[in-house]
Amino acid sequence: MSKKELKTVSNTVTWKEITEGGIMPYAGNAHLFKTGDWRSMKPIWLQEKCKQCLLCFPVCPDSSILVNEEGAMTGIDFDHCKGCGVCAKVCPFKAIDFVEEGK
Ligand code: SF4
Ligand code: SF4
Repeated sequence: MSKKELKTVSNTVTWKEITEGGIMPYAGNAHLFKTGDWRSMKPIWLQEKCKQCLLCFPVCPDSSILVNEEGAMTGIDFDHCKGCGVCAKVCPFKAIDFVEEGK
């Protein structure tokens, strides 16, 4: 498969410029897009309950648990979180609520 340059779809981009079926031509490009746009549920980090155990970090499929250089959780990347709820499920301290988007 040829590596076409990724295009932002707009009313000036023709079908000849996008990939067959609109597929992503290669992996590792999520940083180029806000892939959290279609989230319907949302995790809410309750900082005061968080014990910094970081159990939520490795289970997030979208690498959306934010951790600083000192190894402490600092929040959630809502540009890429898809609202799967795994982080809320795995947190042993109930430090992540899981609510409807927009609430
Ligand atoms: S699993 Fe819960 S307590 Fe542990 S770092 Fe994540 S939010 Fe904090
Ligand atoms: S809801 Fe899912 S995608 Fe969002 S931060 Fe939690 S584990 Fe990651």
